[in-house]
Amino acid sequence: MSGFEPVIGVEIHVQLSTRTKMFCGCALSFGDPPNTHTCPVCLAHPGVLPVVNAEAVRRALLIGLALGCEIAPRSIFHRKNYFYPDLPKAYQVSQFDIPICGRGEFTAIRDDGTDLVVGITRAHLEEDAAKLTHAGGRRAGAEGSVVDFNRGGTPLVEIVTEPDLRSASDAGTFLRQLRQTLLFLGVSDCSMEEGSMRADANVSIRPVGSHALGTKTELKNMNSFRFLERGIDAEIARQTQIVASGGRVRQETVHYEPETGEITPLRSKEESHAYRYFPEPDLVPVVPDPAWVDDLRHGLPELPVPMRRRMVGEMGLSAEDAEVLTGSPELAAYFMAVAGEADPKAAANWVRGELRAQLREVGEEPWESRVTPSRMAALVGLLAEGTVSVPAAKEVLAEVIATGGEPAAVVEARGLGQISDEDALRDVIADLMDANPDQAGQLRDGKEKVIGFFVGQAMKQTGGRADPKAVQRLVRAQIGGD
Ligand SMILES: [Zn+2]
Repeated sequence: MSGFEPVIGVEIHVQLSTRTKMFCGCALSFGDPPNTHTCPVCLAHPGVLPVVNAEAVRRALLIGLALGCEIAPRSIFHRKNYFYPDLPKAYQVSQFDIPICGRGEFTAIRDDGTDLVVGITRAHLEEDAAKLTHAGGRRAGAEGSVVDFNRGGTPLVEIVTEPDLRSASDAGTFLRQLRQTLLFLGVSDCSMEEGSMRADANVSIRPVGSHALGTKTELKNMNSFRFLERGIDAEIARQTQIVASGGRVRQETVHYEPETGEITPLRSKEESHAYRYFPEPDLVPVVPDPAWVDDLRHGLPELPVPMRRRMVGEMGLSAEDAEVLTGSPELAAYFMAVAGEADPKAAANWVRGELRAQLREVGEEPWESRVTPSRMAALVGLLAEGTVSVPAAKEVLAEVIATGGEPAAVVEARGLGQISDEDALRDVIADLMDANPDQAGQLRDGKEKVIGFFVGQAMKQTGGRADPKAVQRLVRAQIGGD
């Protein structure tokens, strides 16, 4: 790419899905009628006092621990001053020089299996602003704007990375796996669409081989990772063109329009001193008990990236199986429960394939269905020991989905057990050879192409219950026979 390399860092805002807001008792809500979850604290009436939501602190610590961050023994809140209609206090309570979570590191897995290591600069607690809606058009040229204070005061964790990313696709990989990790932690619903997870990217370019950082621009608030990746690529191209033609990149916030692929500058970026940060005098410092932090550390669930590694390394799954099966914490927990009682590879095939396909027809997810992990494991076991054939197992599965019966009982009740008794199968084949003398002659003469004919007929004759491997072997044994 014309002698320049991109340098990218990301900032992620995650709304914590706590029951109440960051500094008051108002309920969190999404989609409720506007201004129905407000109180004097989050509306900034004079004289009110905020109180820190302990659950928000717990979740911020979980995030920090999962990202390997240093946990600050004592952190404080600051006021970040700016005037905007979505901020009734005219300052946002945030953290500045002593965030609750300091340096850390997150390792993601690229599609080609290599490690993507991203330094975490910090993760801090703050409150969200209210929601502005611009009526009659976009911000510029809107007829007016209305404010919904329901969102104001929602607890946020802002995660900031080091400028360690070198491509848009690495940024996408990191963000997707970070999102999964947050979902496994259960701290947020991380919906890009509803805005409970928002990502900004800081993008600059520099000559390959240089270690200096170029002037960065900030690509704001993309509501999907795909658009963010495309926006980063567009911004890299724009900066490269500016620099290549002798110009200078200006430090500013830029907006990417997915429909046209165009980048437009929004405003020049504030320097942090413009916010006149000063310590929030109404809040005490956050001093988490070290024993509590230790408990949280030991209580962390298995996170998706290490789980994927374990699935591949210890359980013998393909990288793709592992990626799909860690797609949500619910699916991962379901699969792990099945794999605890059955062969993991066979379990992976069935959970990923037939189970999800059949459940899609009835609009259910595995973990909500009648196919409990132990029923799924039992079915995989019946297949492995040869009690049922694959087609019969699919039928059993359909029955378990519909009625919730135990697989072994369904096999028994519906006579779906596989016929592997060789004498019985030999009889079936002998009857077929009598009924089809031409093909039987060809088989005896060693014409291999008729083997498939007899196997197919034998499966049909037994309603799919014959063990296909045994049939294959027994038909083959007739070659050169009399
Ligand atoms: Zn409130």
